[in-house]
Amino acid sequence: MWNARGMKPQAPETRPREEWERLASAAAPEGRAFIGGELLEPRGGRTFEDVSPIDGRVLAHVARCGPEDVDLAVRAAREAFEGGAWRTMDPRDRKRTLLRFAERVRRDLEQLALLETLDVGKPIIDSVRVDVPSAAECIAYYAELADKLYDEIAPTAPGEQALIRREPLGVVAAIVPWNYPLIISTWKLAPALLAGNSVVLKPAEQSPLSAIRLAQLGFEAGLPPGVLNVVPGSGEEAGQALARHADIDMVGFTGSTEVGKLMLRYAGESNLKRVALECGGKSPQVVMPDADLEAAAEGIAWGIYYNSGETCHAGSRVLAHEAIRHDLVEAIARVARTITLGHPLDPGTRMGALIDERHTQRVLGYIESGIAEGARVALGGRRVLQESGGCFLEATILDEVPVGARVAREEIFGPVLTVSGFRDEAEAIRLANDSPYGLAAGVWTTNMNTAHRLTSALRAGTVWVNTYDRSSLATPFGGFKQSGSGRDRSPHALEKYSDLKTIWSAYQ
Ligand code: NAD
Repeated sequence: MWNARGMKPQAPETRPREEWERLASAAAPEGRAFIGGELLEPRGGRTFEDVSPIDGRVLAHVARCGPEDVDLAVRAAREAFEGGAWRTMDPRDRKRTLLRFAERVRRDLEQLALLETLDVGKPIIDSVRVDVPSAAECIAYYAELADKLYDEIAPTAPGEQALIRREPLGVVAAIVPWNYPLIISTWKLAPALLAGNSVVLKPAEQSPLSAIRLAQLGFEAGLPPGVLNVVPGSGEEAGQALARHADIDMVGFTGSTEVGKLMLRYAGESNLKRVALECGGKSPQVVMPDADLEAAAEGIAWGIYYNSGETCHAGSRVLAHEAIRHDLVEAIARVARTITLGHPLDPGTRMGALIDERHTQRVLGYIESGIAEGARVALGGRRVLQESGGCFLEATILDEVPVGARVAREEIFGPVLTVSGFRDEAEAIRLANDSPYGLAAGVWTTNMNTAHRLTSALRAGTVWVNTYDRSSLATPFGGFKQSGSGRDRSPHALEKYSDLKTIWSAYQ
C-alpha cells in the first residue's frame, strides 16, 4: 500500500496542474460537523479557518466543535449502538454496506485527493495513487472479513459448553493526526465498524476536510444514522471533551507521544475507557559495511523524504558503519536530488509543503539546533519557494551528528535525515535501541546471519531488511515502547475494538 519506494516517479498519469488548479478554485469544501446522519453547524456557531499550507489560502470555515457538540455526537452514536441496526445486522449485509462505502471512496477519488492535497500540502500524485486508494482498500479489507470470522468454543467437561464470543465495545472515539488524514481515519473506523461499534471521529484541526466527506460517503452507502460521526475542532476542546467523555468506551488515538500520554490521563480521570495509542517515532536505519549502498541510499531517501518526512515511521535516523558512512551520505544525496520539490498540484512533484507555518519553523529550528550541536549540513537545510506563501523545505541531510544531539533523539517530523557513525554491530544495536521510541527500524546488510541477529535485537514494531516502508493491510502496524500500544491494520486490529464474552452453559 503506501510504499514510498514502489511509488517513486513513473510517468505522471493524473491531470495536468492547470486542471487541478481549476478544480481547486471551484472547490467549496464542506466544513460542518457530521452528527446523526446530518451536517450540523456547531452549537454557538463557532468556526475556524482551515488554511492550505500550499499558499496560505483559506479553504473553508470549519465547525469548531466544543463539549456540547461532542456530547451530541456521542449521544447519537450511543443511540445507534443501542438501537442495534448496525450491531445486529446480518454480517453479509454489514459487508455489503462497507463494500459500498469503499466503492464510493473510489468513485470520488479525485475529489478526495484534491481535498487531501489542498488541506495538508502533499503531492497530488500521492493523494491519487496512495492515500485515497489505500483508504478505500482498508474499508474493503475489513468489509471482506465480516462474514469470515468465527467465534470459539473452549474445551469443557461433558454436559457443559463454553462459548467465547467477540462483541463490540460500544462507542469508539477515533482521534487522528494530519499527516495521512484519510488513511489513518480508515485504519481506525473500518475495523471499529466491522466489529459493530459506533464511531465518533475527531480529525486534526489542520486537516478536517476529507474526514467530513468520508462520513457523508459512509452514510450514503447505508451506514445507519449515528454510526459514523465527525466532530472537527481543536485538540484541547473537541479532542479532550471526547477523550474525557464518560460514555465513550474506547479511544483509538494516533498522534504525538505527548498527547498520547494525555489520553491515558483522561481515561484514568474519567471512566477508565480503553486506550490504544499509535504515537511518534525516531526510527533507525542501520547500514552495515557489507550493504548494497545504492539500494540502501534509495530506500533511505524515500524512507525519509516521502510525505516530506511527515510520517510517523519515517526512517529519520541513519546509523552507518564508519567504513561506508561517507559514500552512503553521497549516495543518499544523489537520490534526494531526484525527488522533485514543488507545487503539490503539479503531478511531477514528489515533495510538497509541510503542514503549516508553525511546524515549518519548528523543523527549521531543529536544523539550527543540529548545526549548533556539531552536525554538518550535507544537503539542503533551507526554506524555499517562499514567494508562493507556502511552507516548503528542502530535503536535508545532517551528517556527523553526535548521537546525544537533540536532532538524533527527538522526532523532527520533517524532511531532515540525521546520520551518525558506528564501529561494530554491538554499538549499532545499542545506538538503535537507545530511544524512547520503538515504531520501526531498517537494516541494510547482504549477510543473512547479520540480518537475523539485528532483527531479533531491534526493539521496534516493524523491522525492514534491505527495504523500507513496504507494508500492506495484511500486516499489523504499531509501536513498542513510547511509540504506543495496540496495532492498526490486519485482523489483529479487531482486538482493540471488541471484547471477549464467555457464555458457559450446562446441558443434560
Ligand atoms: P498531535 O498529537 O498534536 O494531534 C493528534 C490528534 O490529537 C489531533 O486530532 C489533535 O487535535 C488531537 N489533540 C491534540 N491535543 C489534544 C488534547 N489535549 N486532547 C485531545 N486531543 C488532542 O499530533 P499531530 O501533530 O497531529 O501528528 C503528528 C504526530 O502523530 C507525530 O508525533 C507522529 O509520529 C504521530 N503519528 C503516529 C502514527 C503512528 O501510527 N504511530 C501515525 C501518524 C502520525
